[in-house]
This record gives sequence, structure tokens and C-alpha cells, in this order.
Amino acid sequence: MTLRKILIASNNWLVQQARRRVRPEHLLVLLPRCLQRADCAQAVVEDLDACQQCGRCDVAALLRLRDETGVRFRMAGGGRAAAALTRQPDVRAIVACACEKELAEGILAAFPKPVLAVRNETPEGFCRNTRVPIARLREAICALVM
Ligand code: SF4
Ligand code: SF4
Repeated sequence: MTLRKILIASNNWLVQQARRRVRPEHLLVLLPRCLQRADCAQAVVEDLDACQQCGRCDVAALLRLRDETGVRFRMAGGGRAAAALTRQPDVRAIVACACEKELAEGILAAFPKPVLAVRNETPEGFCRNTRVPIARLREAICALVM
């Protein structure tokens, strides 16, 4: 197991053991830009609602999950933008989806705010047309909201 895997697994275990819960408006679900279909021209990094919900990538399902849970969902264009979003004062807990490298860096950047990390799936390789396990994302949200 790599150091990153150990960090992510240990972090998720500790956050779940702490059983800290926040109101939905204080939970941020942070998504990577690579979830958007590479040939989609919609500006979803700036505004997820720009998605036309064609279903060719997971963004459409993520919007439905957002509306179902009432939690804030944002897509970040890179690690620096993601770190800035986690530092917003009204963000008290984070569910982050990304590759292991970005998750490990994000957990450290957001500290001491609790982060539950969900690894994206990379059927076409890194940084392009990645997928998010929606059921695991829902579980992570449910573990952190009141
Ligand atoms: S679901 Fe369709 S419109 Fe929405 S981001 Fe994906 S490819 Fe673009
Ligand atoms: S695969 Fe990782 S590094 Fe590449 S865009 Fe996605 S989250 Fe960022």
C-alpha cells in the first residue's frame, strides 16, 4: 500500500470515528474537472448548472444528488482552486472526489476541517473522462450531514 493510500484510508477512518456532523449548507462536495466529458463545451467548472444533463458523464447524476441532499457541490479546476474552496469560512466539512494524489494533498490543505475522500475511477486513464462512484459519494455525504 502506498503512503498516499495509507493517508487516505487512515483519514477516512478517523473522520468516520469522530462522527462529527454538520448542517447541509456547511458541507462542501468538491469535484475534479476531469469528471466532465472532455468534449463537452459547457462551463461546469464555473457553474455546475451549466450542465445540459445529456448523461454522457456523471455530472448529470451529481446534480440530481446535489438536489436530493441539499448540499453544496463545486467543481475545481485544480488543486489550488480546490484548496481555496475548502478554506471558505462557512465550509465546515468536505466530501472530496479526486485521484489519490489530489485527495492526499487536499486532506492536508483542508486540515483541520474533516474531509471524507472518495477516489474517482479512471477507465480512460488519469485526467480525462473519469467517473465518480455515486453510491460511495452519497454514503460519504450521509456520514457527515445532520
Ligand atoms: S452530462 Fe452532458 S452536458 Fe453535462 S457535463 Fe456531462 S457531457 Fe456535459
Ligand atoms: S485525475 Fe487527478 S490530477 Fe487529473 S484532473 Fe482528475 S483529480 Fe486532477
